[in-house]
Amino acid sequence: MTGMAREIKIYDTTLRDGTQGEGVSFSMEDKVRIAQRLDALGVHYIEGGWPGSNPKDLRFFKRVQDAVFKTAKITAFGATRRPGVRPQDDGNIQALVEAGPPVVTIFGKSWDFHVTSALGTTLEENVAMIGDSVSYLLKHFEEVFYDAEHFFDGFKRNPEYAIRTLRAAEAAGAHCLVLCDTNGGTLPHEITAILREVKRAVKAETPLGIHVHNDAECGVANSLAAVTEGIGQVQGTINGYGERCGNANLVSIIPSLVLKMGLECIPREHLRELRDVSRFVSELANRKPWPAQPYVGDSAFAHKGGIHVSAVLKHPETYEHIDPDLVGNHRRVLVSELAGQSNILWKAREYGIDLDRNTPEARRILELLKRLEDEGFQFEGAEASFELLMERALGNHRPYFDLDGYRVIVEEQQGNQEPVAEATVRLRVRGIPEHTAASGNGPVNALDHALRKALEDFYPNLREMSLLDYKVRILDESKGTGAKTRVLITSGDGDQVWGTVGVADNIIEASWQALVDSIEYKLRGDEKKGQR
Ligand SMILES: [Zn+2]
Repeated sequence: MTGMAREIKIYDTTLRDGTQGEGVSFSMEDKVRIAQRLDALGVHYIEGGWPGSNPKDLRFFKRVQDAVFKTAKITAFGATRRPGVRPQDDGNIQALVEAGPPVVTIFGKSWDFHVTSALGTTLEENVAMIGDSVSYLLKHFEEVFYDAEHFFDGFKRNPEYAIRTLRAAEAAGAHCLVLCDTNGGTLPHEITAILREVKRAVKAETPLGIHVHNDAECGVANSLAAVTEGIGQVQGTINGYGERCGNANLVSIIPSLVLKMGLECIPREHLRELRDVSRFVSELANRKPWPAQPYVGDSAFAHKGGIHVSAVLKHPETYEHIDPDLVGNHRRVLVSELAGQSNILWKAREYGIDLDRNTPEARRILELLKRLEDEGFQFEGAEASFELLMERALGNHRPYFDLDGYRVIVEEQQGNQEPVAEATVRLRVRGIPEHTAASGNGPVNALDHALRKALEDFYPNLREMSLLDYKVRILDESKGTGAKTRVLITSGDGDQVWGTVGVADNIIEASWQALVDSIEYKLRGDEKKGQR
């Protein structure tokens, strides 16, 4: 490498490979929000799904067609053509073309055993399938990447054949040859040795990429070893979500590349968003964040008493491998009262609120945030609630209505299969009392209907808004029904999508808080737009 540091392209497959992970699934709205968040982070490619295998994925590609992405290109994933079928007659390949993103990634077989046993075709035909599919797709896409499935395992058994498959994709003009450790059992020294042989076998200018799984817990190490060997594209997922033990974790790979290897991949200042992005994706996946997650976990920079604390306060490098602030995390020390404050200042700036570190407002927000987080609030994935919280703490918030009370009844009726829910809401808008009742297909739905009924005459723009997603988490499972409930609601108005949160002893109250925030956020946003 000479002069400028080379740039590593980050290819995120959270929305495709990540959803293969046990317990991970995203609604379409979740996927759109995650894509937007990844774009803001600065990743280069976002793999949106496999349109040939899943109609929901095809809808996603239609939905993001008009969306504007600053840095990221959306990519679709699929397979090479089937044996004995022309690409133009292959349904899977046509689904990719129909999905229509700028980039496509197709996988093919590099392990001879898989070709004859799983695919049931000849080694010759498999090579032709790779070349034909890449050539055909090049006519329809800006860039075509070739994923060499089971490359490392295949290479260990039959290196000549594995290389032949790669050369077929290279000769057809693939923009990147991505070597996959599909079973995730390869170790870093093997990655290094095999890559050296691959580099001898392909043209020097052919771009190479890496896609590894984490079955031997080497996903991150293998990706970094590949970069050391000159690989230019790294594929992985946020939090390492993925099949079995997961994919290579981009949340660890990205800061290692930037901070430790001096390689550009996302803008350095965006590293501070990493913890938030990690939390955001875990909230939407409805998975608990992993406390000991490297770089971004709650415990990643937590120091417990004794000599560590005094040493780390004087010289953080004694027990910290990086400054936690760089990745949006913070040191947690029992004696520290400033933990997290710089994060709040950082976040406040994101929302256009300028806070000085030592103002009473900043301290008030910090105190409030600490209290709410103790109660179980979690604002990643609920940016709208966070923004409202800051406005309220700063005294800038004017409520759009005053609640006098609400009531929800769920009635099990003889002969009816479904219980009936009915909600009544009493509130005042600009001093005018409103009292409405509405039913719904569940208590939260009924409450939502009653609230809107009361407000829509005053705020007709609420008709544009709808609830897109609703997630519930019980915060302390050990307490059973006595535990607190956190509700995360995603709302949208065709223009914007936003998340709100509520925490309470009961699910109705938690839902109410999230509903009210969602409505206030919409009204406040529209008002701001009107002022502009
Ligand atoms: Zn994979």
